[in-house]
Amino acid sequence: MKIAVLSTNPDLYSTKRLVEAIKERGHQALVIDHVKCFVMIEGGKPTIIYKGQPITEIDAVIPRIGTSVNAFGCAVVRQLELMKVFTTVKSQAILRSRDKLRSMQVLAKSGVDIPKTVFAKNPSQVNELIHMVGGPPVIIKLLEATQGVGVVLAESTKAAKSTIEAFYGLKANFLIQEYIAESKGADIRAFVIGNKVIAAMKRQGHESDFRSNLHRGGEGHLIELTAEEEHTAIAAAKALGVRIAGVDLLQSERGPLVMEVNSSPGLRGIEEVSGIDIASLIVAYIEDKIVTDEGDTVGV
Ligand code: ADP
Ligand code: MG
Repeated sequence: MKIAVLSTNPDLYSTKRLVEAIKERGHQALVIDHVKCFVMIEGGKPTIIYKGQPITEIDAVIPRIGTSVNAFGCAVVRQLELMKVFTTVKSQAILRSRDKLRSMQVLAKSGVDIPKTVFAKNPSQVNELIHMVGGPPVIIKLLEATQGVGVVLAESTKAAKSTIEAFYGLKANFLIQEYIAESKGADIRAFVIGNKVIAAMKRQGHESDFRSNLHRGGEGHLIELTAEEEHTAIAAAKALGVRIAGVDLLQSERGPLVMEVNSSPGLRGIEEVSGIDIASLIVAYIEDKIVTDEGDTVGV
């Protein structure tokens, strides 16, 4: 097979590992920089031009789309779908999982537990919003937050009010969430492929931070999930239609709560702590699924 990794940088760890795994499993690998693609929209014949040539004869793609080029990256993936190329994640699922509000709605509807979350457009209800998620401390999250930037912990009503008012003033879209204090600055990253958790790590934030993102200095170590955590991670990935997913969970007193589902989960941290060749398992997943691609069935 000819398998392409959609990535703006061939030197990134995840991109390199996927290319290696594709070759090791006997396929042809190429990296396509989606930012440098032209999408040709013309009746009946969807085409993508890359480096002056139309892209043809690709059997499958593995999108690794960064948040900064999300809309365009997804347009390229959508075009590939129209060209009947198998993709490990559909454009719809990338968009759905990247939108924190939409993904919370879909997860809640599917019966997956999430932290109590509110969203409102009207700045006059600030006190009520804070009260609705159980009072301070609360988490205030920009909808487009990534790698922990844009996620604020407000410890008092005063701090929450001024942050919320500032975000309203900037016309930023955000949600307010109950703070899960008992997770103590740690979360769980479960790496899901299909219907299985391949590996999971607990990430502990730096002692001066409530955020456990590895990009913020958090540290990961391998853990064994409880049956409930495993079930929750698989259900969350399925609910959002993300078949290869990094599902982030908080351990709360009432059980695991899903914070987000990443559709381009990084491989470095999880491969390093688990010693598992996850890139190879992703290619194996393609080999297995390319015949029975059932498309995106989530519908919202
Ligand atoms: P990002 O997309 O920027 O990674 P997240 O929603 O994953 O945003 O939040 C970043 C980090 O902040 C999480 O990994 C977690 O450690 C912490 N965090 C987020 N939401 C909560 C919450 N409701 N309660 C406690 N900690 C949280
Ligand atoms: Mg996160």
